[in-house]
Amino acid sequence: PEICVSDTNDCFKHETYKLVASSWAQCKLFCLDGRLHLSSLFNFCHYCVYAVQFVTSVVSCLPAEIKLESNGKREKVTGFNVVLKDTILFPEGGGQPDDHGTIESWPVLQVTRQGPEALHFITSALTQGQEVLLKVDWERRFDHMQQHSGQHLITALADSMFEYKTTSWELGRHRSSIELDTATVKPGEMEALESVVNEKIRAHIPVSVQFLSIDDPAVEKVSRGLPDDHAGPIRIIDIEGVDANMCCGTHVSNLSHLQVIKILGTEKGKKNKTNLIFLAGNRVLKYAEKSYITEKSLTALLKTMPEEHVDAVDKIQKTMKRLQKSNLTILRNMAVLIAQNFKSQPDRGSFFSLHNKDGDNEFMNIIANEIGFQDTVIFLTVGEEKGAGLFLIAGPEDIIAALGPQVSELLQGKGSGKGGRFQGKANSLAKRAEAEALVQECSRRHSAGEE
Ligand SMILES: [Zn+2]
Repeated sequence: PEICVSDTNDCFKHETYKLVASSWAQCKLFCLDGRLHLSSLFNFCHYCVYAVQFVTSVVSCLPAEIKLESNGKREKVTGFNVVLKDTILFPEGGGQPDDHGTIESWPVLQVTRQGPEALHFITSALTQGQEVLLKVDWERRFDHMQQHSGQHLITALADSMFEYKTTSWELGRHRSSIELDTATVKPGEMEALESVVNEKIRAHIPVSVQFLSIDDPAVEKVSRGLPDDHAGPIRIIDIEGVDANMCCGTHVSNLSHLQVIKILGTEKGKKNKTNLIFLAGNRVLKYAEKSYITEKSLTALLKTMPEEHVDAVDKIQKTMKRLQKSNLTILRNMAVLIAQNFKSQPDRGSFFSLHNKDGDNEFMNIIANEIGFQDTVIFLTVGEEKGAGLFLIAGPEDIIAALGPQVSELLQGKGSGKGGRFQGKANSLAKRAEAEALVQECSRRHSAGEE
C-alpha cells in the first residue's frame, strides 16, 4: 500500500480508519483509501501492548536535563532525549505512570510525551539512524496494565451498580485509589462491587482498543473530557459489554489477565468525595505475602494466634500506660526522698550533684525545689551515661546566670533559665564530670566569698 506522507493529524481530520493487524508486529493503521499510516500515535494498539522488545532506529538524540526522584529527593540528571522511529515504551498519561526499560544496554529513566512523539531519556548519546534494541521493563508495565484496566472495570461497575461516578484516580506505588463522587458508601456496597468485579474477571471478557473518527456519532458517548483542540482519531478501550471509554493507557487484552481485584476499603476524600482503595493482579499476591510475613512475626512476638493479635497488642498498650504512670509516681517519690536524704546530712555542705539514668524535668525540679537553692548549688542530669539527656543547675541567682551557658556548652546542649535556675537538653553527657567540677568550684568560691 501507498504510505501516507501528509501530516498525520491533518489527514485524520477527514479520513476514516481501520486497524489491520493480527499481531502486534503487524499493527498498522490503514486509511479506508488504502494508504498506510505510520504514526507513533498508534503504537499502543491492542497487540503491541504485549510486546516486550522491539528493534527500531534512532530519529534524533538531543542533550537534556531532567529531575528524577531518588530516596525521596529530586535530583538533576543530565543525559539525552531520544526519539525513536517507533516505540513500545508508554509515556505518562491518563493517570498511568511512564514505562521504564532499556535502549540497547542503557536504562530508560523516563519517557515523556511531546506532541505525537515519545522522548526516551537515557544518559548516553546515540547516533541518528542507528538501529537499536528496545526493551520494556515488563514487570513494571504489566503491573500498570493490571491497575489501569482494573480501574476501568471498577469505575464502570461502581457507576452501573450504584451510580457512583469516578472523578479521578491515582495509580500509586503500592496501592491505587479511585475518587468516587459520593460523600459516603452504604454498608455492603463495596463487598457487592468486589464480588461482581471478580465475576467479570472469571468470565474472561475480551478488552479491545478501537479508534473512532472525531466525527463518528459514537464518539459523543465516550468523549467526555476531550480537549477542544483534539485532532485525529479517538482511542477507545472497550471492555466487551461492560464499558467503552476514551483512554490513552496500556490495557490487558482480556479481563482474565487481571487475575483478581481486592477492594481494601474506602477513605474520606476531598470535598464530599470518597476514595476507593484497591489492588489488582500481582499486587494482591504481594500484599498477601507481606501480610503473612508480618502475621508470622507477630505470632512469634506475641505468642498468640493471629485472631488474638489485636487483643494482645491492646492489652500490652494498656499495661504499658499503667506502668508508665506508676513509674512516674515512683520517680517523683524518689526525688523527694533524694532531697530529704541530702538535707538530713549534718555535714552536707553547699553543693549537691546527681546523675540518674531515668527521670525527666519534673524529677529534677522536684529535687531542686525540695532541697532549696538559696544557699546550695545543685547540679542534676538525667539520661544515658555518655549520650543525650537533660540537665539542670540551680543556686544563687548571680552565679547561675554566669554558670548556665558554660555548663550548657560543655554538655553540647541548649538551655535557658531565670531566678537561679538554668535547664535544658544535653546532646552529650560525656563531659559531665568536667561540668560537675566547674559547678562545684563556683559553689566553693561563692561560699568562701560570703564567709
Ligand atoms: Zn484509562
